[in-house]
Amino acid sequence: MIPPSFEYHAPGSVADAIALLSQYGDAAKILAGGHSLLPMMKLRFAEPEHLVDINNIDSLKGIREEDGEIVIGSMTSESALITSTLLQEKCPMLPEAAKMIADPQVRNRGTIGGDISHGDPGNDHPALMLALDATFTLVGPNGARQIAAADFFLGTFFTALEADEILTEIRIAPQAANTGASYQKLKRKTGDYATAAAAAVITLSGDTCQSAAIALTNLGATAMRASAAEAVLVGQVIDEDLIKQAATKAMEICEPAEDLRGDAEYKTHMGGEMTRRAIRAAIKNAGGN
Ligand SMILES: Cc1cc2nc3c(=O)[nH]c(=O)nc-3n(C[C@H](O)[C@H](O)[C@H](O)COP(=O)(O)OP(=O)(O)OC[C@H]3O[C@@H](n4cnc5c(N)ncnc54)[C@H](O)[C@@H]3O)c2cc1C
Repeated sequence: MIPPSFEYHAPGSVADAIALLSQYGDAAKILAGGHSLLPMMKLRFAEPEHLVDINNIDSLKGIREEDGEIVIGSMTSESALITSTLLQEKCPMLPEAAKMIADPQVRNRGTIGGDISHGDPGNDHPALMLALDATFTLVGPNGARQIAAADFFLGTFFTALEADEILTEIRIAPQAANTGASYQKLKRKTGDYATAAAAAVITLSGDTCQSAAIALTNLGATAMRASAAEAVLVGQVIDEDLIKQAATKAMEICEPAEDLRGDAEYKTHMGGEMTRRAIRAAIKNAGGN
């Protein structure tokens, strides 16, 4: 389990990191927390000749509010998400979900940016980002561009990132009034990836659902927004029957890979159950019944 040899670089700025990525092209890989990349290198699924370690770039770390948005640096660890009072107050689903990722050791090193950039359908942040309508800032040799989470996840281990680009920031709107959110994850044991998971963000106007965002983890080639499930709820006073209908719509788009966590039928069923639970919890968190 020893990775192939590589040259190690530790730039101190985003500009220097991009210069290295531009110089080495496909032969280079960014190293963030290393908790997905290093296992892949040890298994020789990834064999970069150059590792560009971005841990020394302080501007990529931290969580702040700017122009009415929450801005999370890509090198912010899962542990920092969990302890952020700003997130607990203004985007509580994110710290709630980060607590369910891996184990404390992984959460201390693993970063939100690495979790998103890896493009693993088993990772939890992609569905969270879809449900929260997040925007990502990607910086490359030609400057910065913004991309919606909805346009970022293109396939398994395949995202909109170019080889010479770095995900620098994640931007999320603070949770609106009368809104509740929840992430429900089924896993076999502590430290495991999701067998199935669902994120729901619901805004109520009185008893009526004004808007709904639902996204699924590990139930297809990428995280997915369950738009048909959302449509069942919007404009309605949500009851158990509607929740069941929405869960059925979510199950219709599930195409999970079969593995040791279960076969496709079981995972799809669990996807429906996680969707049901996430909707119920989100309504409760929004102040509904
Ligand atoms: C035992 C174990 C259990 C786990 N369980 C879970 C789980 O339940 N849920 C979950 O979501 N994850 C889980 N993970 C994965 C973990 O969260 C990883 O930390 C995460 O997937 C990758 O983040 P990282 O910072 O470690 O990135 P790295 O491993 O360093 O990088 C991952 C990939 O993203 C690229 N990359 C990293 N940062 C950037 C950036 N800023 N811009 C562009 N590209 C970048 C790298 O080049 C690499 O290709 C688990 C990992 C382990 C080891």
